[in-house]
Amino acid sequence: MLTEVTTTSLINNNINGNGKLLLKRDVDALRSEIKNLAKEKNAVILAHIYQRLEVQDIADQVGDSLALSRFAANTNADIIVFCGVHFMAETAKLLNPKKTVLLPDLQSGCPMADMISVDDLRAFRAEHPGAPVVCYVNSSASVKAESDACCTSTNAVQVVKAFKEDEIIFVPDKGLAVWVQEQVPDKKIHIYDGFCPTHYQITPKDVFVMREKYPDAVVVAHPECDPEVWRLADFVGSTSQIYKFVTDYHKQQFIILSEQGLVARMQRDMQHKTIVTTFPLPLCPNMKYHKLETVLSGLKENKNKIEINSDIFESASQSIIRMFEITESNKTGNKNFWEGPKRQ
Ligand code: SF4
Repeated sequence: MLTEVTTTSLINNNINGNGKLLLKRDVDALRSEIKNLAKEKNAVILAHIYQRLEVQDIADQVGDSLALSRFAANTNADIIVFCGVHFMAETAKLLNPKKTVLLPDLQSGCPMADMISVDDLRAFRAEHPGAPVVCYVNSSASVKAESDACCTSTNAVQVVKAFKEDEIIFVPDKGLAVWVQEQVPDKKIHIYDGFCPTHYQITPKDVFVMREKYPDAVVVAHPECDPEVWRLADFVGSTSQIYKFVTDYHKQQFIILSEQGLVARMQRDMQHKTIVTTFPLPLCPNMKYHKLETVLSGLKENKNKIEINSDIFESASQSIIRMFEITESNKTGNKNFWEGPKRQ
């Protein structure tokens, strides 16, 4: 039986489905049961870096959207247990039509992805005829199916530049879209009005407060933040770029303007550095639903299988494949440009 301590918090690690803390021996037992079962069922566990640390610790791969998509595209496992939000599990399914993809807790959605529907996208596209649509990976499979290429925050600039057209529609994240617009000034980006409520919770005032407290710190921001916020940063980058920057940069103090899970991970991995974030904590509650217990029960029962409507499957996967083709062609120096939008 699991021993419980009466503490509930979104950021406390090692909690069970009722929000109670678990003792180390219970956590160890759960971890080994998950690992053994995953081996037996030829399953891999993928965890986004915003997940609780104990969920990251049982994963075969931890990373941001791009790293996890790449891993999902190449795995030989029969089952993918995706500890992230719904659109990420959908992306894994689109890349692995024959595999079983499980989302341990179905509540794990993304409010930003929910800010745009297919009808919204069609209406927005009608306002800008001829402009190809680039959708941030933080979008539903049906929105991906209506888009010309997908992107992550790591490769958004590359993907936008890969189109010949001078005008691009970018959905749904306006923070990232403004960032891309500044990197690609020769194109006109039509920006949809979606945003990440977690990153938008950080205000310029929060940054000033932290800068006063840590005057020597380097300020690092994710482009999902409000542009008024990321403009105050010394470095702007995707989750993986932030992690690498903080690892490599010679300075000792960093103020991170991004989600708490990334901050917690870096604090643990780089204990010789001072890594802080703003207050109140920028925390995405949707990323914290998965727990060791739900991962175990999901895997045991093959629960919460991700299914994608066959009408949109091909088109949605094409958007993701285009993203990979663009990033690969950039790596090899073979800069093929797209002919234009696949839909009007
Ligand atoms: S951090 Fe923002 S973009 Fe990421 S899942 Fe949460 S709400 Fe969505």
